[in-house]
Amino acid sequence: MTTNEMVYMNLDDRPLLDAAKRLATEERCATAALLGALLEIDSRRLYLGEGCASMFAYCTQVLRLAEGAAYNRIEAARAAREYPLILDLFTQSAITLTAVRLLAPHLTAGNHADVLDSARHKSKREIEELVAALRPRPDAPAVVRKLPAPNTTTAALAESSAPHPSSSPVAAVAPSPSEAPPRGEPALVAPLSPERYRIQLTVSRDTHDKFRRAQALLRHAVPSGDAAEIFDRAISLLIESLERRRFAETSQPRVARAPNERSRHIPAAVRRAVWRRDGGRCGFVGSSGRCRESGFIEFHHVEPYAAGGAATAENIQLRCRAHNVYEAKLFFGDSVVREACNPWGDVLSRLVPGCVLLGTTD
Ligand SMILES: [Zn+2]
Repeated sequence: MTTNEMVYMNLDDRPLLDAAKRLATEERCATAALLGALLEIDSRRLYLGEGCASMFAYCTQVLRLAEGAAYNRIEAARAAREYPLILDLFTQSAITLTAVRLLAPHLTAGNHADVLDSARHKSKREIEELVAALRPRPDAPAVVRKLPAPNTTTAALAESSAPHPSSSPVAAVAPSPSEAPPRGEPALVAPLSPERYRIQLTVSRDTHDKFRRAQALLRHAVPSGDAAEIFDRAISLLIESLERRRFAETSQPRVARAPNERSRHIPAAVRRAVWRRDGGRCGFVGSSGRCRESGFIEFHHVEPYAAGGAATAENIQLRCRAHNVYEAKLFFGDSVVREACNPWGDVLSRLVPGCVLLGTTD
């Protein structure tokens, strides 16, 4: 074990969290300084004398940066040469290197201040939306075709005529826009323009056959067989079904009965109200803000059931699984929750009723 690891092992929680913040700031300052140095090395073409044909080769071979890190830093350094504001925003933690790389091709002397300002604290997905607004692309026509792969059971639902997103650090060697993605390539969801997205995925023969069947069954309503329209109808039905099952969502709610003070069951009306109020997202608020998780969402008793907490909208909030377990541990203690969450947890959860929601959303 290194000295560093031993230092952090011995820190209490708060000093450890503070140290991580300080280290992240120092790392950012070091990266900003590196960008300044790269900018100058690039201008003087010093990489040539170092035996490298390009800045990318210099960064990966001499500085030993990972390829993605090298690409991000070179692009950011070149953009910063043109627009020095980038270095200030980066040092302030307002924008990431990935954001700079995505935005750089769309910055101009006239728009850079506004665009960079609107990119503050945005996620990669939000930056992609910003790029789509700056450079809207036409809709991609829907294409369903079989991939030219040896595996004859694979088919592709692909919209193939739009160019590949410029976000790939290896854009130069990326497949041409008209090529289908190789098997195993992750599905792609990319904004084309405000309100328009391109989705590309590879599916099994079985899924492909179901799609064709849905297309045939909907022929009267969607005569063109438009893949986007069928996808929208399918995904809407799926969401409706999942929300009905998991969160008691309905277009015709029944009148709620008075909640039974000592029942663990959460009435449908309460589940609906809580789901809407919390926006379908974890409601845990930590010292750095509210959790953003919207997956693995569960209902959580603020005052635990075991302590007399009722299943009312006032006492129920949404939590992601991690925070539901975290709060149960804070209340019941680590060992109790660990046992309640084991494979025999069903039995144990009766002993620790506050844990009843762990892993169950129905
Ligand atoms: Zn959470």
